[in-house]
Amino acid sequence: MASLQEDGLGLRTISNHITRIGALLRRHKIVDLLNNDDKPKYDEREVEAYDSDQLTALFAAASPEERMLFQFFLGTGFREQEVMFCSWRNVDFSGKVITVKSKPELGFRPKDKQERSVPVPDALIASLANRRKHSTSMLVFPGPNGKPNGHFLRMLQKLAHRAKLNCSECLTKAGKSCAKNSTCGDWGLHKFRKTFATMHSEAGVPAPTIQRWLGHASLSTTLRYLAAADLRSERTRSQVNTSFAALGIGGAA
Ligand SMILES: [Zn+2]
Repeated sequence: MASLQEDGLGLRTISNHITRIGALLRRHKIVDLLNNDDKPKYDEREVEAYDSDQLTALFAAASPEERMLFQFFLGTGFREQEVMFCSWRNVDFSGKVITVKSKPELGFRPKDKQERSVPVPDALIASLANRRKHSTSMLVFPGPNGKPNGHFLRMLQKLAHRAKLNCSECLTKAGKSCAKNSTCGDWGLHKFRKTFATMHSEAGVPAPTIQRWLGHASLSTTLRYLAAADLRSERTRSQVNTSFAALGIGGAA
């Protein structure tokens, strides 16, 4: 556990590893090495998506390059590594589908060894077709040296800061406030994935289809994404207002 923590893994991930090792040991009748109190404690964080006001403001302040990149994150629902290693060959311009493919030569393998394809909007395909004309790399979003780009999060947080979209309340582990620095924890790459799920769900795409597009191994993860969205839906809104309507504190004033 100490070694994983030194490697910078989160408490939740470490706990998952420990649970798995525990199961292996149990199968071999090795028990009681750890009790529940020894395991790392973590808070189960609520799944959050961006709302349309945030995205509109973000894209309005973005450079063309930033807009392209983050619209790609949003339109594909890809994980950070999947965007980093996406190559032009993975983009099917006529079928308007983008595929996550293993690239062992670059050291990239998709999570759970699952390759998958995601249909994307026409507008995204059109901007990609334009981008391809000027591209000199096999990668869609290469770093400055043509290698995979590891700075997407920093780019997003800089953009959010410039667009004045920081929450102004959070601190980094080193104590830096996002009120004055481009370090706001409200802005993360994974949140585009959650937004992708939310928007498709609101448009009526069934959960098992969204699960396939996200590449989730189990439907329960996808449903956790969608539950957070349902909390903010019109339907929930009208139910909540109806619950208290008799008291006159239901709907909008
Ligand atoms: Zn913040």
